Amino acid sequence: MDAGKDRHILSSYGLYLRRQQKHRRGPGGWRIAAAGGAAALAVLIALPATGAVGQDAAAASTTASCPWVTSTAPVSQRVAQLMAAMSLDDKITMVEGHGTTNPYVFYTPAVPSLCIPAVGLEDGPAGVADGLTGVTQLPAGVSLAATWDPSLAQQYGQVIGAEESGKGASANLGPTVNIDRDPRWGRSFEALSEDPFLNSALDVPEIDGVQSQDVESQVKHFDAYNQETYRNTPADNVIVSNRALHEIYMPSFNAAVTQADAASVMCAYSYVNGSASCNSSYLLTNVLKEMWDFQGFVMSDYGALHGTSGALEGTDQEQPFNTYYGTALETDIENGTIPLSALNTMVQRVFTEMFRFNLFSQPRTGSPTATVTTPAHQALANQVAEAGTTLLKNAGQTLPLPSSGGGTIAVIGPSASVSPAYAGGGSAYVIPSATVSPLQGIQAGAGSGTSVTYQQGLPADTALPAIPSADLSPAYAPTPFGGSYTGTLTAPETGTYVLALTNPCGCYTSTYLSLNGTHILDNPSTPPVNTYSVAVNLTAGTKYTLSISGDSSQLLWDTPSALAPGITAAVNAAKTAQTAVVVVSDDTESEATDRPNLNLPSAQDELIEAVAAANPHTVVVVNAGAPIAMPWLNQVASVLDAWYPGQGSGTALASVLFGQTDPGGHLPVTFPTSLSEVPASTTAQFPGNGTEVLYSEGIDVGYRWYDANNLAPMFPFGFGLSYTKFAYSGLRLSSTTVTGTQDVRVSATVTNIGNRTGSDVAQLYVGDPASTGEPPRQLEGFQRVNLAPGQSARVSFVITPQDTSWWSDNANGWTQTAGLYHVYVGDSSALANLPLRNAFQMTSTPGARQVAVTAPSVMHAGKASVVRVTLTAGGSQTLHGVQLALQLPAGWTVTPAGVVSGTVRPGNAVVATFRVTPPSYSPDVSQVVHATATMGNTQREAGVSVSVRS
Ligand code: BGC
Repeated sequence: MDAGKDRHILSSYGLYLRRQQKHRRGPGGWRIAAAGGAAALAVLIALPATGAVGQDAAAASTTASCPWVTSTAPVSQRVAQLMAAMSLDDKITMVEGHGTTNPYVFYTPAVPSLCIPAVGLEDGPAGVADGLTGVTQLPAGVSLAATWDPSLAQQYGQVIGAEESGKGASANLGPTVNIDRDPRWGRSFEALSEDPFLNSALDVPEIDGVQSQDVESQVKHFDAYNQETYRNTPADNVIVSNRALHEIYMPSFNAAVTQADAASVMCAYSYVNGSASCNSSYLLTNVLKEMWDFQGFVMSDYGALHGTSGALEGTDQEQPFNTYYGTALETDIENGTIPLSALNTMVQRVFTEMFRFNLFSQPRTGSPTATVTTPAHQALANQVAEAGTTLLKNAGQTLPLPSSGGGTIAVIGPSASVSPAYAGGGSAYVIPSATVSPLQGIQAGAGSGTSVTYQQGLPADTALPAIPSADLSPAYAPTPFGGSYTGTLTAPETGTYVLALTNPCGCYTSTYLSLNGTHILDNPSTPPVNTYSVAVNLTAGTKYTLSISGDSSQLLWDTPSALAPGITAAVNAAKTAQTAVVVVSDDTESEATDRPNLNLPSAQDELIEAVAAANPHTVVVVNAGAPIAMPWLNQVASVLDAWYPGQGSGTALASVLFGQTDPGGHLPVTFPTSLSEVPASTTAQFPGNGTEVLYSEGIDVGYRWYDANNLAPMFPFGFGLSYTKFAYSGLRLSSTTVTGTQDVRVSATVTNIGNRTGSDVAQLYVGDPASTGEPPRQLEGFQRVNLAPGQSARVSFVITPQDTSWWSDNANGWTQTAGLYHVYVGDSSALANLPLRNAFQMTSTPGARQVAVTAPSVMHAGKASVVRVTLTAGGSQTLHGVQLALQLPAGWTVTPAGVVSGTVRPGNAVVATFRVTPPSYSPDVSQVVHATATMGNTQREAGVSVSVRS
């Protein structure tokens, strides 16, 4: 790849994020003029004013009429050359969707006359999705997040990139980095975590991995897309403060574009403060492109664009149709409603990434029919699944199971064998190339002297019988798309029933099942399953109103007495076994619907309770992508959360169960005791009242909420047990008195005090002074360690000024507060697991300092204009060594070149003046002039859009 950009971002993401950029964009130089009592400033470094040069190999198909294909000129020049040869129609072709008949879910076609290659974009976050086969079904994003291992995230990304490339796709639609705001969100499994620091620390290496395979990564979904209910309608109108956006919902996207140079961003289905995400100037232009200097392109989620004005608001490409960016946009341009320069800007952004990823010079050779899974990819998948498996309870050290001579293991549950859940549903669903079920894995992993029995315990949902008309009046009749049914169910007996509903349409639209007006099931008809079930308690002779709205083809059930024999057989198997392993799953987590509650489907809770009563060594293995309710927690010995582990499920599970691998996973999400405890517990907050969704919990998302409200969740964020034990000691801070522009380095010792090798995740939390309004503690560093018995490791973290900054809505920027900052180190977010504590005093800060950049709204190609950068020092700290810098689009020049340094006193401002020249070849486009002010170890930025006229 080439033609990246030159950034000077000082990482706020601790140890794990990349601090150097691979792809650099041609910088310029500049001169500073002091103003308003500022100190003298001196030019420090002169950088060459050249653009990055491509190293594309000559493409065999190149013709003399397409010089941009083999040219070694800077990308910006090649883009301009190509655009100069394009008609309005050609340009529209590059920004509109072209339907859904291509093997790739989104694509743009080749334009042979201009040597423009076709571009296939394919889901997704856990491997090549959208129905393609011969691929590796990786563990879900939440499973990756539970590893807390950036190096695994990088390899995970590499596998995705390699397989997308092998399939001929140029872009991967992933990762999904939205914050897991609520455990009911149907796509929790697909996202990473509830914490922006953890999200960022993992999405950067993952994107690096994808893009290392010359595949564009499209990070999604920007922004505040945290529920499926009301999706892509104005009823999902998120009302949220800018502070919460910048502190919670945006950092993972910021990291993706500023540190991993993600090629593109998918705008979301959600509306944010009244604007559809794909029509939000604030999100796409003000923040993403101007403030963050994002150079790539923005693409709409499936049908998420809501008007041609998106061309002005920041969406560069519509997919998969051309509702707005086809004829409608062309007409708007022809009649002058939208300037041609807006379309040029969109096309330029799309082409810039295509050149950067060598799509012109190195046409993709992969094919949708190719088999791209490999043993190495599958091994990596299993490694992630093992490393993410999280041990939540282990009473009496029931686990690990003896590798041999373990007597009988009774494996129980449909999810162990007949209907295992490997992955969540929807566009992220990947068809596995082969699977190992939990039962197969346990059978293969059991050593000599251990026998494995299996009892299903419950019927598979698809095997349930229809509710007979004797019990349901009127008799159920399938409801076609959009149809409805209401009947009266008379319960023939008292007890737990399983009800199931099949939604056959495959069209990502909900069918709702209600009992006496209470909504109990949502079935979106997404792959991989279209029969969903729920358990309900009914009383003999009582009449219940059962309603269906939406497409359904079958209404199924099992009565308590029909369920009883299976459960009894499971109990009997458990009674005679040394250990009972009950595998349960939630197969209702999917894109397109949220879960009405956290209960396991079918009668799995009842099955666990019955088995646990029969065998004190009952181990529950959970395959789910999000927190579930565990009413049986006190009755079972051990709980392993194996998440959605992907196709190697059983192999990874056996490795952990039998102790070949320590269950090193730690929770990337808080497990609540009940829904009344979650941050968005009211309907107004989740899923909203049908008009808006109030994010009134503000920045108190996930563990921040529990800590701020002194709530004890079932399991705290960051929690995870090991088969061994760890002790923490020796906390050291590099300084206990700092200014707001200095780092604090923190180190501590982790020791394995048990007698097995195992892994732990050391976590650093920082508690800001209460006057900041920040929650009690926030994750600012982590490090996974693997230690032999008796072995110690020193872990170290850096608390940067960005880590102690908060977003001031008043100042419209980051600020800091002087005061005492508490430091906590341990292995979960709960105070009980944070044994090491200290504090440092921040004596002074730059305050709500701002950098502003002013430029003429119109500049002319090849002609110099004056641009000024101003830094106002708003706090109590005298700022030494301030550096003001410009970041300009590729091909631009600036005089004089250099980085400036000086001292600025509180209340004063500095102004730097530059002469900036867009390249003479520039088409009429809108470009961003971006500036940074660097003070010590912190940085602020600003950008402004300018129109360039040829
Ligand atoms: C999803 C996206 C996905 C797209 C294409 C949408 O429904 O929200 O995440 O990339 O479909 O499959």
